Amino acid sequence: MHASLVVSGLRKVYEGAGRRVEAVRDLTFTVDAGELVCLVGPSGCGKTTLLKCMAGLLAPTSGEVLLGGRRVSGPPPGMAFVFQEYGRSLFPWMRVGENVELPLRQKKLGRVRRRELVVDALESVGLADAAGAYPWQLSGGMQQRVAIARALAYEPEVLLMDEPFAAVDAQTRADLEDLVRRLWRRRGITVLFVTHDIDEAVYLGERVLVLSASPTVVREQLKVDLPEERDQLRTRVAPRFAELRTRVYEQIQAAKRGEPVVEDAPPPR
Ligand code: ADP
Ligand code: MG
Repeated sequence: MHASLVVSGLRKVYEGAGRRVEAVRDLTFTVDAGELVCLVGPSGCGKTTLLKCMAGLLAPTSGEVLLGGRRVSGPPPGMAFVFQEYGRSLFPWMRVGENVELPLRQKKLGRVRRRELVVDALESVGLADAAGAYPWQLSGGMQQRVAIARALAYEPEVLLMDEPFAAVDAQTRADLEDLVRRLWRRRGITVLFVTHDIDEAVYLGERVLVLSASPTVVREQLKVDLPEERDQLRTRVAPRFAELRTRVYEQIQAAKRGEPVVEDAPPPR
């Protein structure tokens, strides 16, 4: 039972402190059940805002998000989220193993099964030995891997990732990209992966959505017609890879020419 995601006419306006920012104007797109879609767009174009609305952490100004046909109005069960600011998403007073186990407590699982999931998840991100450490004893890249392990252990149907590898070193990043593809292929989960890295979007995605600058709309949807089996060395030098990245690059450049809309707040009534 895997769920599709439908974003329909989504708009988000932030209001407060005399400012009114229309972060997302009108977004409509679908991620099919079991699909891996990458979303790219210039910094500040509303990617995090969009994901927070999709995760039920932020109420849209208008429009809606449907998960498996049901409207999202709070964090839906079966959805896991890897935040951009991972450092803040781990509890410093809990050991790594406890951090990974925490969301599992919402599930009706025995203690043994929970432990098993934690061990498996930490192993799959290469941190089998770190279960007893505190997050602040780990490097940034390791902390991010803990956040990913926490999402995996939960065995989500839908995984939303917000620029999850922006702060890790190149080698770890390549390994984690391959991990995401492997998990997606093995577990058939629905994945929406946000990145500002064009090569990463093309390498990872089965489809790439290019967003415009804020106020955001979908500028283009591109099918990534590369073989399902990807390889860090071979895929990235394939002629088709170069064509796709050029196409996405051109679209991003065009998108960057827009400016965010900042209007004065309406006068008080
Ligand atoms: P991205 O993730 O693509 O970099 P964000 O979704 O973080 O973009 O931000 C989109 C726009 O909304 C930016 O102009 C940002 O300044 C604004 N914004 C984000 N969060 C808030 C907030 N809580 N209050 C007011 N404006 C915000
Ligand atoms: Mg962001």
